[in-house]
Amino acid sequence: MTTSIHFDIFTLFPEVFPAYLETSILKRAQEAKIIEVALHNIRDWTTDRHHVCDDMPYGGGGGMVMKPEPIFASVESVLGAPPTCPVILLSPQGRVFTQGVAEELSQQSHLALLCGRYEGIDERVIEHLVTDEISIGDYVLSGGELPALVLIDAITRLLPGALGDPEGAWDDSHATGLLEYPHYTRPPEFRGWVVPDILLSGDHARIARWRRQQALLRTLQRRPDLLEKAELNDSDRDFLAGLSLEE
Ligand code: SAH
Repeated sequence: MTTSIHFDIFTLFPEVFPAYLETSILKRAQEAKIIEVALHNIRDWTTDRHHVCDDMPYGGGGGMVMKPEPIFASVESVLGAPPTCPVILLSPQGRVFTQGVAEELSQQSHLALLCGRYEGIDERVIEHLVTDEISIGDYVLSGGELPALVLIDAITRLLPGALGDPEGAWDDSHATGLLEYPHYTRPPEFRGWVVPDILLSGDHARIARWRRQQALLRTLQRRPDLLEKAELNDSDRDFLAGLSLEE
């Protein structure tokens, strides 16, 4: 596992990144040098007077297409030609981003993220520069900037030291293959709604067992598809079998 990742972001809208990157966990991760994020405005590599980055699609149709020259120029001048790190295009046509993909990418020390806009980018960029395409879900956004932030956030949480509590990421939904158990904090009673007794009991073994069962229960109720792939032990299976008997 690498301990730090350098992200190079290529975008036409670098200004949308700082507010999110300068907040909370991502801010602290940068201060602690766990991640570095370098923003590159593709428009800075245009050579024409009007700094044009898009043009009409060959063959007609609506919308504009991002031109290949400034994208190649920006990526190759920052990363060399050919780049030695993965060059990931954020795209609704890519493989779908999951916790598993975040874990895979968290092994890298250097990642380039390319953000599309408009109708997308010239296919020659995808064929000859991009090494991976990632989608954050089956819907279409206006640009790859939010998806790039989604990747950076999910990957950074997995790096040692990024979360204040080193155990924080282990139990997270999806990390274990299950959805996480419910959380409660003070007060013990709010508007007559009480915190489950067991969480106040101080009995850590029973609390751990209750949490595991809650995680199993809500995964069964909300995302039964996840249970098929989750790693379950004998007592998990007993608990789930007991539930289906009750129905
Ligand atoms: N015409 C394209 C969509 C373009 S959307 C198509 O139908 O495939 C404009 C840009 O937003 C894309 O180039 C991509 O970088 C980004 N984008 C949109 N939806 C996304 C998603 N679900 N995941 C990742 N990136 C996405």
